[in-house]
Amino acid sequence: MQQHADQYIDGAWRPSLGDGVLEVVNPATEEVIATVPAGTAADVDAAVRAARAAARAWGATTREQRLVLLTRLCEELEAARTEIAGTISAELGSPISFATTVQAGLPITVARSYLPILAEYPFVEQVKNSTVLAEPAGVVGAITPWNYPLHQIVAKVVPALAAGCPVVLKPAEDTPLTARLFARAMHTAGFPVGVFNLVTGVGEVAGAALAEHPEVDLVSFTGSTAVGRAIAETAGRGIKRVALELGGKSANVVLPGADLARAVNVNLANVMANAGQTCSAWTRLLVHRDDYQEAVRLAVEAADKYVPGDPADPQTRLGPVVSAKQRERVRGYLRSAVEQGARIVVGGPEAPAGRSLGYYVRPTVLADVTPEMTVAQEEIFGPVLSILAYHDEEHALEIANGTVYGLAGGVWAADRETAVAFARRMDTGQVDINGGRYNPLAPFGGYKASGVGRELGRHGLAEYLQPKSLQF
Ligand code: NAD
Repeated sequence: MQQHADQYIDGAWRPSLGDGVLEVVNPATEEVIATVPAGTAADVDAAVRAARAAARAWGATTREQRLVLLTRLCEELEAARTEIAGTISAELGSPISFATTVQAGLPITVARSYLPILAEYPFVEQVKNSTVLAEPAGVVGAITPWNYPLHQIVAKVVPALAAGCPVVLKPAEDTPLTARLFARAMHTAGFPVGVFNLVTGVGEVAGAALAEHPEVDLVSFTGSTAVGRAIAETAGRGIKRVALELGGKSANVVLPGADLARAVNVNLANVMANAGQTCSAWTRLLVHRDDYQEAVRLAVEAADKYVPGDPADPQTRLGPVVSAKQRERVRGYLRSAVEQGARIVVGGPEAPAGRSLGYYVRPTVLADVTPEMTVAQEEIFGPVLSILAYHDEEHALEIANGTVYGLAGGVWAADRETAVAFARRMDTGQVDINGGRYNPLAPFGGYKASGVGRELGRHGLAEYLQPKSLQF
């Protein structure tokens, strides 16, 4: 078992200032595989001071200097790809094939995507008699969740560094080992001391201390809406900028005449990926009432292909959820669905056959779900799809927009124009048209309670800049 007692602060691994410990549990075996320090407010303070001390010099580097270091970071991450995938598989339970291609591969792609963006970004603009400089926003506090441990870190830290901001990272309790590998890559890449700092710890202690710290200028948070609200309140009191990537309850809308079989199969793949622990997952499938029975049949057939299995096996497509707490949460939602009149057509709250050890949940499809049911309103974060019927396009739109969230979505139609016209009326930050491919350069973020701000691509870099106007 790995036992770590240090935090990465001011360019070195230093003993944590508290003696609390976080246990990292492998969700497939329920074994403790490592411990990391539960950082205190004093650790956070040391990290923020180091970042503050580095801020002016880092903010004054040229884009070329930052490009050299960020290129090295990409190389370090690439070199560690197998180790990162294995670590994420062990601490999150991600199937190793998914961990390799998506959990490790995607953030490397995202990190690399910032090289040309940084190379070309217009940091100076002329507006009549003003020269407008895009300056770094200052010290960034980044608080990340466990569901895509490296991606969430890279999506914040890389654009922040590209913008010239130093960062203090507080990763999720369940997945700190990936964050430590990222810190190692930053160290080996040779960033100046204090530019990147890592404090592992509990959200209510280390996370709260970071969000509150007066020397933090911008808090970028990804996680639950409840915690996001608390962070926004704290940041508001301190007049700090805040970026929030929160939950979702995204709708996949299949309009009459669309390729129903493809839409349902893609939806199942979307919702089963990462055991359903994806904030942008299409957790609500909306189909016309005339297509409903066929959609349910197709969904059951597709769900049967997702057999819960050992994450270490390259054939496994569905692993456990991250923790016992998360499994209980998912099971609770399934029970509430039945109580409120939904029908489990495949799956259910019981443990999958032969999987009594590990935090496994059966891939589940709920039929006869109506818009006001809890499972149609709240984020479940498990391998669960709810199928809802609509009677016409307006009704479909009302259901699609009828939650507090607005993060992602899908529309399928017989032609692109019909799908686009519908997508334009959806209150959500992203919509995939007829199964459009994921684009790591497209702005990602939410309408309504799904968040504030955008990550990825040029929009992600702009989050970490502030304008200064010089008049001539
Ligand atoms: P969470 O909100 O409990 O935790 C997220 C992070 O916030 C963790 O690092 C945690 O330690 C920290 N935290 C907790 N309480 C805190 C506090 N009081 N002050 C400061 N920091 C605190 O969420 P989670 O359970 O880790 O992740 C699941 C949730 O995150 C889901 O609701 C999911 O939708 C959401 N999520 C959203 C996105 C997105 O991009 N929109 C991505 C991933 C996850």
